[in-house]
Amino acid sequence: MTFASLNLIEPILHALQSEGYTTPTPIQQQAIPVVLEGRDLLGCAQTGTGKTAAFSIPLLQLMHEQQHPGKQIRALILTPTRELAIQIHESIGAYGKHTRLKHQVIFGGVSQVPQVQALRNGTDILVATPGRLLDLIQQGFVNLQQIQFFVLDEADRMLDMGFIHDVKKVVALLPAKKQTLFFSATMPPEIAGLANSLLRNPVKVEVTPVSSTAEKIEQQVFFVEKQDKRALLAHVLQDAAIRNVLVFTRTKHGADKVVKDLQKLQITAAAIHGNKSQNARQRALSAFKDGTLRVLVATDIAARGIDVDHLTHVINYELPNVPETYVHRIGRTGRAGASGIALSFCDSEERAYLKDIQRLIGLTIDVNRDHPYASGAASPVSTFKSVPNEQRPRHPQQRNGQGNRNHGNRQNQRQYSRGRQQPA
Ligand code: AMP
Repeated sequence: MTFASLNLIEPILHALQSEGYTTPTPIQQQAIPVVLEGRDLLGCAQTGTGKTAAFSIPLLQLMHEQQHPGKQIRALILTPTRELAIQIHESIGAYGKHTRLKHQVIFGGVSQVPQVQALRNGTDILVATPGRLLDLIQQGFVNLQQIQFFVLDEADRMLDMGFIHDVKKVVALLPAKKQTLFFSATMPPEIAGLANSLLRNPVKVEVTPVSSTAEKIEQQVFFVEKQDKRALLAHVLQDAAIRNVLVFTRTKHGADKVVKDLQKLQITAAAIHGNKSQNARQRALSAFKDGTLRVLVATDIAARGIDVDHLTHVINYELPNVPETYVHRIGRTGRAGASGIALSFCDSEERAYLKDIQRLIGLTIDVNRDHPYASGAASPVSTFKSVPNEQRPRHPQQRNGQGNRNHGNRQNQRQYSRGRQQPA
């Protein structure tokens, strides 16, 4: 399938070509025709599936065809984090660069003054986080009465992050007649209720259940004592083929400590977490994206929505206590069909977390023992009986409680990257 076969207009096709997109992802194939028909959409998809383009492209096309650029906000895209808001804004800029549609982004944690000034020039599409949007509405800088298109992105994260009340306040201000696109990776009851109240006869599209994302990513676990994790990280990073790596810690303090340790070793590293200013986070993210920063250390909240093309490695310096978080973390690599490698450091206190993770993903993760810091009990935490690769279940429904070992174990003594990756 091509984008042209989805009946997209020339200005958008041209922009997608410049982005290097050749084939629509499954969510794009399913969602674009539905949205172009004017139907409401319930999308069950997580970041990394191409969902931003799945809603942005048809919205841009519908709005372009209306030919009323400029003065009234006709589309509102609500998203939980500033990073996601910025990314959606940038994507809309890229896909819509040959249209005359205007778009703006507003989010909290920074001065509202430039945002208010930008809004004065008029915008067709507004990308917003809920708190800042409500602030600017209350001050009279934003009016939602002309909204025709409403996108609620990552609805379940809105709930997790305590924004659901704000979302409901925004929803109450929208006109009754509109087209709504509702995205959520999971459907807890409160989110299902919200979707029911918002959507009119929606078409449901669903891709990549959370646990199957993990299957295309090579995963290894290193059993190590807590106090040896810094030395292990330094050891792993001796592999020059790991050029761009996102390291996850559970706490902000932990993130800062890892950065300090790496800097002592002359490894370029920076942390992004809630205590960093928005500017510092943006600087770190840009440096990471352009390759001047080798290691980005992040907490889970800060990493939400971080989108780095071609990220090859994720390291779980600490395992998350919520197994779904593991899948979200490693899903930062292996984007849009690319392959990726996820290395996890597991100390004795984290073994229970590993068990939960393996149960969720349906795999027993390979143990890498070829490092100088292997802890005494370095045997696999087996949640599943091993089955050969070709019998690996592709979908959770096929699982029957069996999983497999992931790729060949210890195929490489010191190199934690695949052979195809050459050092710069
Ligand atoms: P998203 O799920 O919206 O966060 O998108 C994940 C990543 O996939 C982003 O880096 C997009 O630029 C990229 N992407 C989206 N659609 C396509 C496509 N059809 N072909 C190639 N890359 C894509």
